[in-house]
Amino acid sequence: MKAPWAALIGHPVEHSFSPFIYRAFAYALNRPIHYRALNVRERKLGNAISSAAKRSWLGWNVTLPHKVAILKYLDEIHADAEEAGAVNLVRFKEGRSHGYNTDIEGFLAPLAQRGITLKGRTVLVLGAGGAARAVGAACTRKDVEEIVFLNRHPDKAAALAALFGGRAGGLDERILHQEIRGADVLVNATSLGMDGTANPVPFRLRLKKNAVAYDLVYRPRVTPFLKTAADGGAQTIGGLEMLVAQAGAAWKIWFSEEVPQPVLTHVQDELERRIDEPT
Ligand code: NAP
Repeated sequence: MKAPWAALIGHPVEHSFSPFIYRAFAYALNRPIHYRALNVRERKLGNAISSAAKRSWLGWNVTLPHKVAILKYLDEIHADAEEAGAVNLVRFKEGRSHGYNTDIEGFLAPLAQRGITLKGRTVLVLGAGGAARAVGAACTRKDVEEIVFLNRHPDKAAALAALFGGRAGGLDERILHQEIRGADVLVNATSLGMDGTANPVPFRLRLKKNAVAYDLVYRPRVTPFLKTAADGGAQTIGGLEMLVAQAGAAWKIWFSEEVPQPVLTHVQDELERRIDEPT
C-alpha cells in the first residue's frame, strides 16, 4: 500500500512540532506517511479541503488560526468538535471531510496520569480562543463545580461562559486576584508566554491549597506562568504532554491504532530535549 498523505494546516506553521511527532509515530509503528506543514490562508481553506478529499488524503492537523473557521467547510463534525465548537483534526474518507477535536482528550490525559480529578472543582481558564474551547468542553464532560473564563476581550470570555455554563470577566489584575483565590485548577489558554517573557499573571499568587497550574503553551518548557505558579506553591503541568497526547488521539482516529505509551514517552522526551533549542 502507498504511504498516505497528511499535513498540518495553519498560518504560520514553520516552527510546529507536528511533522516531527507524526513522523516519529510513523517510524516507531512502521506505518509510513508523507507529512507536511502547509501554510494555508482562510480564504483558501474550502478549496484545499475539496482538493485533499478528492485526492484521498489521510487527514490534517489544524492549528491557528483555523480551528473555528474550518467548521463551516467540513462535511461532518464529530461530537467532540461539536462540543468544543472547534476542530483540530480532519480525516478524509471516501471523498468526504470529517472534523474532530482531540485537544479535549489531550488536555485531560496529563491530569488523569497524575490522578487529578476535575469533578467538583473550580477551574479558572485564562483565554477564550480555540484551546480554551477544548478546556471548556473537557470541564463540562468531567462535571466541574464551576468554570470561569477571563480574557483580554471579555466579550469572547462571556461567549464561552454562555456555551459552557460558567462565569466570565476581563484579564485584569483585580479580577485575576479575586478569581485565582477560589480556583482549584488554573489554566493558561492564552498564547502569552510563547516568547518566554509574557505572563498572564505577572504578580505573586495567593493560591488555594493543592492548586494545580496548567499551561497549554509548550515552548518554552517552563513558561513565566508556570514559574509564577510554582513560586506560589502550585503543582504545575506544561503543555508538551497535552501536545503529544492529542497527537496520539489523532493517530488513533486516522489509523484505528493506539500509539503505545513507550512511543508517546519517547517522543515527549525527544521534544523536551529539542524544545529549548533556538528555532
Ligand atoms: P487563539 O484561538 O488564537 O487564542 C489566543 C488566546 O490568547 C485568546 O484568548 C487571546 O485573547 C489571547 N491573547 C493573545 N495575545 C494576548 C495578549 N497580548 N494579551 C492577552 N491575551 C492574549 O489560540 P489557541 O488555539 O486558543 O491557542 C492558545 C495557546 O494554546 C497557544 O499558545 C497554543 O500554542 C496553545 N495550545 C497548546 C496545545 C497543546 O497541545 N499544548 C493545544 C492547543 C493550543 P483575545 O481573544 O483577547 O485576543
